[in-house]
Amino acid sequence: MSQPPIIDPADKTSIATQIAANESLDPSDWAAFRAQAHLMLDDMLGYIETIRERPVWQPIPDTVRARFLSPAPHLGEELAQVHAEFMQDVLPYAQGNVHPGFMGWVNGGGTPVGVVAEMLAAGLNANLGGRDHIPVEVERQVTVWVREIFGFPQGATGLFVTGTSMANLIAVLIARDTALGFDVRASGVAAQPRRLTAYTSNAVHGCVPKAMDIAGLGSDALRQIPTDSRFRIDLMALAEAIHRDREAGFTPFLVVGTAGTVNTGAVDDLAGLADLCRREKLWFHVDGAFGALARLAPDLAPKLDGIERADSVAFDFHKWGQAPYDAGFILVRDGEAHKNAFALPAAYLQRAQRGLAAGSPWPCDFGPDLSRGFRALKVWFTLKVYGTEALGASISRCCALARALEERIAATPELELMAPVELNIVCFRYRAEDTNRVNDAIVVALQESGVVAPSTTRIKGQTAIRAAIVNHRTSRAEIDALVDGVLALGRTL
Ligand SMILES: *Cc1c(COP(=O)(O)O)cnc(C)c1O
Repeated sequence: MSQPPIIDPADKTSIATQIAANESLDPSDWAAFRAQAHLMLDDMLGYIETIRERPVWQPIPDTVRARFLSPAPHLGEELAQVHAEFMQDVLPYAQGNVHPGFMGWVNGGGTPVGVVAEMLAAGLNANLGGRDHIPVEVERQVTVWVREIFGFPQGATGLFVTGTSMANLIAVLIARDTALGFDVRASGVAAQPRRLTAYTSNAVHGCVPKAMDIAGLGSDALRQIPTDSRFRIDLMALAEAIHRDREAGFTPFLVVGTAGTVNTGAVDDLAGLADLCRREKLWFHVDGAFGALARLAPDLAPKLDGIERADSVAFDFHKWGQAPYDAGFILVRDGEAHKNAFALPAAYLQRAQRGLAAGSPWPCDFGPDLSRGFRALKVWFTLKVYGTEALGASISRCCALARALEERIAATPELELMAPVELNIVCFRYRAEDTNRVNDAIVVALQESGVVAPSTTRIKGQTAIRAAIVNHRTSRAEIDALVDGVLALGRTL
């Protein structure tokens, strides 16, 4: 800020004047505020109710983008005015993942229940780092449910985090400390004579090598094992890599299996990985960012058999769980190890038997964050209002739509399927001479059309149109619009 805030004593409407006169930031006219707040809630519910009448996404005009370069506001304005600005400049240019035509990357659609739950959480403004209050019990309640969903024992601990990137990092850190001894938290990895190595498939999400990097082990120490024709880790190659590393003096400590790879939705043989990890005495972590919740769908659950034997599972409620961003989760079988990897005594975080400082251990003892929002509430609401059956049914439906898309591709000679459809992700392309250029162009044109928004990936070095069906609102109509759009564009490009 270039100037200090200006307080104009003559301006009775200035918020700064009110604050200077010893008033709080609360409204002076609650009735007016309440009326405005109701309008805002109605606008947001209306946005979701009529989402199909909007484009999925639209390019941001330069004039709109430029309005977000203004200096810091010194004087406040009316809430209604800022809300009008939101309606004009923010809402129309959102990413579009609420829309049923959004199929890019892996993004959840959210629900109206999530909207109002977020509002309640903001009202309480709870800090879930610790202390003795019921919001922490809500998070513990969700942990009990998560344990049940994944067949984990009572001693297993859980924690809400931003997303699976953070959840995977937490798992790598617990596995590292378990392998090296918890003293490594003080002495550091650099003082270690042993060089740890971890294993995953070459279909791994980029956040896992990043976690190895952040954990001080180096992303090179993550061996990326080849995959089979269905993009699942090759168990033989994995066993060989572990033995080779042992012979070369490395210390293998961790295997990361994936339940739903980001590229194609492949699910590793989790039971096979669990057997191997038991044999080799390695930590078995599952990155189930979106795929883990397929455990809620009876027709899909068997694909994930073996997940109940993992040492830790990372997943997101904000993807297939349809909770609003952000809501990642880490589940850890050995709660003691989980705590030993993160708990840190501090005078200002002293625990007590009674009073507000009771209820130890606190969530801050299980992860890097101290101040934490009430992510648990929107998930608690989502699970209670819809129930695991309805959430499982919507996950199952996403996969049925992916199979319907697969069938249309198979029946259309101009299109080519590029990877087996394992869950909800379909990778395909329009057959053309200059295939990479044409398919990249098709996807950009589709996104700009506002009708459907897939993304791209590379399969064996070739551009694929990638449709990830994650949104509970997506229906057969969007699948047909995608195929029709690809065909129409492919013929002209
Ligand atoms: C999305 C995803 C991640 C990362 O999760 P975030 O919630 O975005 O941090 C990790 N692994 C897989 C397989 C994913 O699909």
